[in-house]
Amino acid sequence: MEKVYIETYGCQMNFADSEVVAAVLREAGYGVAEGLEDADYVLINTCAIRDNAEQRVRHRVRELRALQNRRQGLRIGILGCMAERLQQRLMTEEDNVSFVCGPDVYRRLPALLGEVADGRKAAEVELSTTETYADIEPVRLASNGISAYISIMRGCQNYCTYCVVPYTRGRERSRDPQTIVGEARTLFERGYREVTLLGQNVNSYSFAGAAGTVGFPELMDMVAKVDPRLRVRFATSHPKDLSDSLLEVMASHPNICRCIHLPVQSGSNRMLKAMNRKYTVEWYLDRVEAIRRYMPDCSITTDVIAGFCGETEEDHQATLDLFRRVRYDYAYMFKYSEREGTYAQRHMPDDIADAEKTRRLNEIIALQGEIALENNRQEVGREYEVLVEGESHRSKERLFGRNSQNKVVVFDRADAQPGTYRRVRVDDCTAATLLGRLV
Ligand code: SAM
Ligand code: SF4
Repeated sequence: MEKVYIETYGCQMNFADSEVVAAVLREAGYGVAEGLEDADYVLINTCAIRDNAEQRVRHRVRELRALQNRRQGLRIGILGCMAERLQQRLMTEEDNVSFVCGPDVYRRLPALLGEVADGRKAAEVELSTTETYADIEPVRLASNGISAYISIMRGCQNYCTYCVVPYTRGRERSRDPQTIVGEARTLFERGYREVTLLGQNVNSYSFAGAAGTVGFPELMDMVAKVDPRLRVRFATSHPKDLSDSLLEVMASHPNICRCIHLPVQSGSNRMLKAMNRKYTVEWYLDRVEAIRRYMPDCSITTDVIAGFCGETEEDHQATLDLFRRVRYDYAYMFKYSEREGTYAQRHMPDDIADAEKTRRLNEIIALQGEIALENNRQEVGREYEVLVEGESHRSKERLFGRNSQNKVVVFDRADAQPGTYRRVRVDDCTAATLLGRLV
């Protein structure tokens, strides 16, 4: 049996897609290799969101050349966003790559592997308006057997001016809710206790079927009812679509986790307009207030970009101010990276010097570090229900899990078992972790 080894870079969506890829190939008679040593094909599922993500993949492809020299016949394929963005060009620039396959045509992978087996090159990069892989049961790769991703929609058409995703992942489309609920139920029956529903903008989920249209709040309600012991998370929500009806559904189900990832991108209205985010700082703060009204214990996390086109010191200070007001529990913080083909690349000069972007980013990182530590200090003395995930990386004597707010909690092992819920009292913390003991 020929074997494929899958390496995944980038967002959660890519990790979920790699599980679909494994399922498609297994169905076609290929094995999934545990390591590079016994692989006939290396498939690299890639991210194109920032230039450094692409450079990492190119570096990896070049590194694999040594292995190919030793093992004639080892083929490399590039999947996902870089394959879609660069298409044939990628095989010219990295000439040890045999094929590229975009995110909407993974069903054609068995045919592609067949085509390149004798040394030819091939590309499949068509985007689809309907493909959701709804009928494919993902092969859970590197799973802890406790939490799993469920992809509920694909694509994005928000066209934020800096972002390449609408070009690499195509039009937005939602998956049949019955297949989503079915997948959640199967996971629960197999012992999983947490699912994360994934999409680029989950709150614009909308599926029109025989029984009418199902939106994201209704879908969340359906998944939450699979079992009260199944935790439900989701990512990512766009602030412009975060509705009160979603917050109501969340508040009414204790098993929907108290954590909302709400990417803000900038704290300046001028920048938000230039980014085409379609909301203002005032709207965003109103949504944060609504979250806290419905669920006072909800954690809020974000994404932010430093040094977007034309960003002034005043705009940057506005971002820092917004961070001080919202007091995020966690933030993914990035320097702006110009992407070919986006509106910003075509119409707006990338005019902030790299050193200045770095300074601004570092200021945001430092501020967020202080806020996260202060937030965690407030947790000392509180008790949480923690879903136990496994051994702490630092010590076999301790376990770790997460609370509903998605904060990592490390505690004494005692008799706790992975996959179960235990109550833990927090008695210390760092900026990233809560430390506690079983109650
Ligand atoms: N769809 C989600 C959203 O709108 O929030 C996330 C999309 S993207 C995979 C994740 C994050 O990458 C974005 O929220 C943004 O902060 C960042 N990002 C996207 N394009 C970028 C760029 N050109 N340069 C730097 N960061 C970027
Ligand atoms: Fe990119 Fe904006 Fe779509 Fe998110 S909502 S994927 S940032 S275009």
